[in-house]
Amino acid sequence: MTASTVSVRTIALQNTLLSYQLIRVSRRSVTIRVEADAVVVRAPRWLTIGEIETVLRERADWIARAIAWWRRHARPLVRPAWQQLGTEGKTAEGAEVLYRGAMLPLSVGHGRKNEAQRDLLGLTVFSSEPEAIEQSVRQWWWREAENVLMPRAMAIAAQAWRKPAGVRLSRARGQWGSCNARSEILLNWRLILLPPELADDVIAHEVAHLYELNHSSRFWTVLEAFHPGARQRRKALAEWTGLLRE
Ligand SMILES: [Zn+2]
Repeated sequence: MTASTVSVRTIALQNTLLSYQLIRVSRRSVTIRVEADAVVVRAPRWLTIGEIETVLRERADWIARAIAWWRRHARPLVRPAWQQLGTEGKTAEGAEVLYRGAMLPLSVGHGRKNEAQRDLLGLTVFSSEPEAIEQSVRQWWWREAENVLMPRAMAIAAQAWRKPAGVRLSRARGQWGSCNARSEILLNWRLILLPPELADDVIAHEVAHLYELNHSSRFWTVLEAFHPGARQRRKALAEWTGLLRE
């Protein structure tokens, strides 16, 4: 694929200004994707801005409906305005961080520990500097991902009677998980932010790729056999897609 160029443009649609990312691609049709935090338009290089905007106007109703859908369904993103924590006398008190599909209260404790600590009430960090708070929380998320997701992957793989050659965490921004031809599974650390059943669905999906490295009907049959319902829950998973860009 040749390199594509990205620009951000604005158009007046239905009396509101809409910003969109325009990506020039070497394909023949225009595609519009409304994501949790951006409208992404892919258009052939030879199409003029006027022609692209005509397509956007023709599809204005659909775009408005898609944006409204995200407003109703988009989940809170990871970032609890880190930069506001710890400045101007504010602390992390009252802030929340996402963990396994729910919001955990975040507070600042006294002491010199570097590590965030989980207790019955929530998560405590031992710093008042916003960067240090963010770093502690991110390290804690990563450790939880290792401690929680890796054993889940082994347990789910055992149910499927297939052993992966290896399971590792990834920081990929585009996908929840992947599996390669060498039977290695990569799991996005952000799965620790999802409700447990949705994280399990992703893990099971990658385990099913140990049998079928495609999305054929045989793949879905394999997945359904050892992890029922995952395909139906894909819409619920889609609501959390915005997290992948955090
Ligand atoms: Zn897949």
